[in-house]
Amino acid sequence: MNILVANLGSTSFKFRLFRFDEAGAALLARGGYERVTDHGRAIDDCLAELKAAGHVQSASDLHGVGFKTVLGRNLTGCVPADERVIAALEGFKDIAPAHNPPYAAGIRRFQEKLPGVPLVALFETAFYQWMPEAATRYAVPETWYQAGVRRHGFHGASHKFIAERSAELLGRDDIARRVSGLYQDGPGPESGPPLRVISCHLGGSSSITGIRNGLAVGTSMGLSPQSGLPQNNRVGDLDSAAVPYMLKTLGLPLAEIERQLVQESGLLGLSGVGNDLRDLRAAAAQGNARARLALEVFTHSARHWIGAFHFELGGCEAIVFTAGIGENNPDLRAAILRDLGQLGLVLDPAKNEALRGAEGEISAPASRVRVFVIPANEELVVARETLRCIAARN
Ligand code: ADP
Repeated sequence: MNILVANLGSTSFKFRLFRFDEAGAALLARGGYERVTDHGRAIDDCLAELKAAGHVQSASDLHGVGFKTVLGRNLTGCVPADERVIAALEGFKDIAPAHNPPYAAGIRRFQEKLPGVPLVALFETAFYQWMPEAATRYAVPETWYQAGVRRHGFHGASHKFIAERSAELLGRDDIARRVSGLYQDGPGPESGPPLRVISCHLGGSSSITGIRNGLAVGTSMGLSPQSGLPQNNRVGDLDSAAVPYMLKTLGLPLAEIERQLVQESGLLGLSGVGNDLRDLRAAAAQGNARARLALEVFTHSARHWIGAFHFELGGCEAIVFTAGIGENNPDLRAAILRDLGQLGLVLDPAKNEALRGAEGEISAPASRVRVFVIPANEELVVARETLRCIAARN
């Protein structure tokens, strides 16, 4: 079974082709295009590339296409990418303007080009379907809530993978199985003692999710990916009063405020140096005070959210770091988990320092809370879920 995963950005198109057989999943091909103005053309180029490489000669060599859609109005989960999905994406295009329109257009293009090939949408919000309602609500008037103003959560593919893989690493195959079938079977009954995990996806955009027995109990991302921790160029959490204040005080038009919050905020806005953690670390090491402060704000925010979920869960068995920043920055991991001996959390400094971009444990043997690094592989999650969705329909 060949499954293509299509990753659409406002000006980019990336793809990965996986083959699934009894031995598991193998990555057959990957590629992508930047500065895309015509997604239809990019999809043509992708299919031509896969044909030239001998992977997909015709539509019958492709058994499904999976899309990591962001959020849809009144729709989530892992579902056939049909008119209902396109309508849901269009219904929330103002909340995710960089992502929803390209996905809606991309799904349409694949429908035209590959009729008969199953298309599947895995919403980034899917992992939060079972979050307690109190963790999803903002204190806004009911009309705002009815319009969709609530905490939706994002990075669902990544956090679901961490929920499943961490359960395996902790010897809880019952929970791993529960997580694996979540979108087809629902959560089912609880089994065994509680397993509490705090998953830290720290990358170009970052979120932290508290997970009990494989289900999210809360997450740092809110209505949109403009929330939670400071993101690369995006603001993260901000008091809502800041927007009308800047409108009135500086006379900035709303579109310019939105642009600044999306493009000139986050780690870039704080540091003035850049949005990439490597550049911030280099500048901080050379004495740049704003770059150092940006790293401290990021660390502070990560500790804030980990602390919130540690309390909410009543403790935890494991904390997991994933994504570009979480996998590759031992200093930052150590700073985020500093001074937690009272909670029984002790890092092994040598293991932490040595582990970059690979899976492993970085807590000391005596630590009551285990700490893991697990590389993110969101495309593989989309491919697996696409396959499960197709199998469930047949
Ligand atoms: P996204 O997919 O959201 O763009 P990533 O998960 O790739 O994000 O994370 C990007 C971030 O990870 C950047 O801030 C980058 O500095 C950091 N990062 C990636 N690789 C490394 C590395 N080898 N060392 C330090 N930081 C890294």
